[in-house]
Amino acid sequence: MSEPSIFTRILTGEIPSEIIAQTDRLFAIRDIAPQAPVHLLVIPKTQEYRDVVALAAGDPALLAELVAFAAQLAEEHCDGQFRLIFNTGAAAGQTVFHVHAHILGGGLAEGTLGG
Ligand code: 5GP
Repeated sequence: MSEPSIFTRILTGEIPSEIIAQTDRLFAIRDIAPQAPVHLLVIPKTQEYRDVVALAAGDPALLAELVAFAAQLAEEHCDGQFRLIFNTGAAAGQTVFHVHAHILGGGLAEGTLGG
């Protein structure tokens, strides 16, 4: 059994962070270090999958639920327009190995991916 991830510790209340929305299998919080006017994290309640590749292979229905939940949150927080980012691997910036998606929105600066 692996150590609880930081997101599991937030889910259980051990680390304080407001859970802004949840379903039976997913929850959402605000990122503690926002990179955009809206920066949310959508996280499976299970920490079984370390990244989006493992999630897609192990439970594709949960990945589809995550995307639908992200779209619903984006409707509420940033007019339904958003970037959905899964950092995958330490060299790509992943620091928490409990799969999660970043929702970025609310007026994004121009950048290499943003055009
Ligand atoms: P990653 O770098 O793994 O793609 O994303 C992890 C994200 O979790 C980072 O953007 C980081 O700011 C966020 N984060 C780390 N610790 C906490 C915390 O205790 N509370 C919240 N709300 N976000 C956190």
